[in-house]
Formats: sequence, structure tokens, C-alpha cells
Amino acid sequence: MSLQFASLGSGSRGNATVIRSENALILIDNGFTIKETERRLQQLGHSPQDLSAILVTHEHSDHIKGVAPLARKYQLPVYLTHGTAQYNGISQLHDLHEINLHRPFAVADIEVKPVAVPHDAREPCQFVVSSQNKTLGVLTDLGSITPFVIEQYRLCDALMLECNHDPKMLATGPYPPSLKQRVGGRWGHLSNHQAADLLQNIEIEKLEHLVLCHISEKNNTEALARDSIKTIYGENKTLHLADQEQGLTWLAI
Ligand SMILES: [Zn+2]
Ligand SMILES: [Zn+2]
Repeated sequence: MSLQFASLGSGSRGNATVIRSENALILIDNGFTIKETERRLQQLGHSPQDLSAILVTHEHSDHIKGVAPLARKYQLPVYLTHGTAQYNGISQLHDLHEINLHRPFAVADIEVKPVAVPHDAREPCQFVVSSQNKTLGVLTDLGSITPFVIEQYRLCDALMLECNHDPKMLATGPYPPSLKQRVGGRWGHLSNHQAADLLQNIEIEKLEHLVLCHISEKNNTEALARDSIKTIYGENKTLHLADQEQGLTWLAI
């Protein structure tokens, strides 16, 4: 087994990605209650006891609110930046690892590269993980695409990519003006078009699985996200989706 991944759910009401290698099972973010996490993990054939570590991208509640309760109940190590660690309740955890954004680290046989992203949090990052020469990029919660992001996500074997909103739906949708500005701004979230642009700029010839995630329930539709991406990715290739309720079942690379 090289690398497998799944999603417990993705969207503004909670995110969690689970990654499995020969010797490790890691969770990236957890925006779910303990009960929901247990239920969703069980559907994927695991219990939180199986987890080797939780990695956290940033302190927005859809990513962090379930981290400390789960880490406390199951005595799990937590990896995050100094900025993200300022979130309430995190600093009291007994097995806390403050990561250096510019330095890769390992959890058992999974190599983790943190990637700094432009997003309106204290010290946000995303992760590129590899094991046995297979690489998965996880990229959500960023408002713009930087040269550094393009460089770090080149030549992935699998990619989970944010397709947050359709700009027209966001503009005419129900959000108050300040939230529209935040979501569509340079430190907010990727639109379908920005996600397609990113795909055009990273080299995707090795890409076996592309998963669209963090899709807004109010400002986007699955069809619009798929349409934008397919023009770049190819009409005939399978596009996976991680949604809020069902997440995504295991994919292997
Ligand atoms: Zn988010
Ligand atoms: Zn966020």
C-alpha cells in the first residue's frame, strides 16, 4: 500500500481529510464533533484510536473546532503552526508540535510539507504529503494563487482542490456585503475559475485523482464547479467530489 485518502466531509460546516499509509493514519483538520467524527471515521473503517496524529491548517472553526476535544479524548499528537496554536484550548493539549512552515516533517512513514497560503487566519498553511514516492496535495482555504503554491503543488499524484464559489452566484447570493468581499477577496477562498487556473499552472500529467472540495452550498453548484474544471482537466477524466454530508470514500494512489 502506498497512499490512500478519504474525506469525512468538506465545506463551510466542517472539514476533515484522512490519509493512510503503510504505517500511519493521519487526520488533516477536524471541524466535527467527537460523535460525528467517530461516526464518519467508522464509515471509513476506522476508529479515532487508529489515528497517528492530527494536522491542522488554520484556526477557522470549520477546520479546528473538533481538534482539541478529539485529541484530548484519544490522546493524539497535534501538529500546527505557532499562529494556529493560539486558538482557544489548543495550548493545553499535552502532545503539541509547533511546526516550522518552511520545514518538512514526518509522521511515521508519511512525509509532510507545509505550504504557506494567503488566507485570513493567523498563520495558515496547507499540506503536501508523500509516502513511498506517491504524493497527495491538499489545497483548500486560500484566496489567491501564489508562485510558491504553484511550485509546491507541481506533479502531484492526487490533489484535493478547493472550488469554493462561482463569482456570479456569490455576487447575487444571500451573504452580506462584507462576507461576499471576504470570500471573494485575495485572502478568502478560491473560485471555480481560480481553481481551474491553478490546474493550468501546475503540471498535472501524473495526476491520478482530482477531488473538488470546500464547495459552497450557497454560492456554488457541483455542476458549475465540474464545468469549470473539466475545461482544463479534460472532459473524459473522472472528477471526484468531497461534499459536506458524505465526504469522499477511500481513493488510492
Ligand atoms: Zn474552511
Ligand atoms: Zn478558512
